[in-house]
Amino acid sequence: MHHALQALTDELRRLKTAGVKTVAVSEESISALRRVVAARAERAPSIPRATVPLAGAAAAPAAAPAKVAAAPKPYEPPAARSFAAKPAAPDEAAPRLPDAPVVTLPAGDKATRWAALHALVMNDPTCSQNVRPGKKVVLGVGSLDARIMFVGEAPGAEEEIQGEPFVGPAGQLLTKMIQAMGQKRSDVYIGNIMNWRPQMPTVDGREQVGNRPPTEREMIYCLPYLRAQIDVVNPELLVALGSTAAQGLLGFGSFKALGDIRGRWHEFAGKPLMVTYHPSYILRNQSNRSKRMIWEDLLKVMERAALAISEKQRAFFLDR
Ligand code: URA
Repeated sequence: MHHALQALTDELRRLKTAGVKTVAVSEESISALRRVVAARAERAPSIPRATVPLAGAAAAPAAAPAKVAAAPKPYEPPAARSFAAKPAAPDEAAPRLPDAPVVTLPAGDKATRWAALHALVMNDPTCSQNVRPGKKVVLGVGSLDARIMFVGEAPGAEEEIQGEPFVGPAGQLLTKMIQAMGQKRSDVYIGNIMNWRPQMPTVDGREQVGNRPPTEREMIYCLPYLRAQIDVVNPELLVALGSTAAQGLLGFGSFKALGDIRGRWHEFAGKPLMVTYHPSYILRNQSNRSKRMIWEDLLKVMERAALAISEKQRAFFLDR
């Protein structure tokens, strides 16, 4: 419960920093929060502060499957640092994880290699243990010949139901952004740093309400699967959506605020990487200024990909 409240207060602080003045909270959420707070007050002396076990998750993760070998170097936590943008959740917010997998794919065409990667991820016990029963592990989708690959943070509620990235409200806006670029969703590839929705404890085993950012350790675990997708698809350009994705790709502590690094070209896995805002930022912040900023970043992607840009597109700003 401590972690759920911590995640909530972190999210509210982050929204405040991003300039959000009001948030809508449903009656159901308020009731759930009241129950959490009441239960916490009753049990305050004995609240565990360490690992949060997931519903249905084994206490210790099982060994990785045949083709996913343990990385030779044990994970070492990085030195403490601060992020003005959106900090990864503290590692105590998530279950312990084994070393990141080493992904080996068979030789062959893209479809063969992607299918092998898909099987690896779906059979990875660590991924499976981190989704609740009935929910799905999520791998990227799109064209295996995509020139542009978008990289988000992690699946949310809708994504873990459908098993596909960016199908909820932020995903619908991302689809509009792609269409505004003159592309179809099926022309590009859309992936996430994470293959599972970062879990939060729920009241009485109910559905998770809200999301928390993945921890650094969680992102480090899933990153080899994203690298493998980049390797298979071999896009010309990458676009990181939001500060968490940017942290996962550029390294923790490599920037203080997303505003410092967005709209500029960086590099990941030997590919040019544009960093921009997450579509959910636009959903929360409907100002023309924020819509224009993200669109300017996408214009740079279009220019670099030599996509045709009309006068109308140049003057455009993203709308919902
Ligand atoms: N936000 C993300 O970063 N990824 C998704 O798949 C959905 C929402």
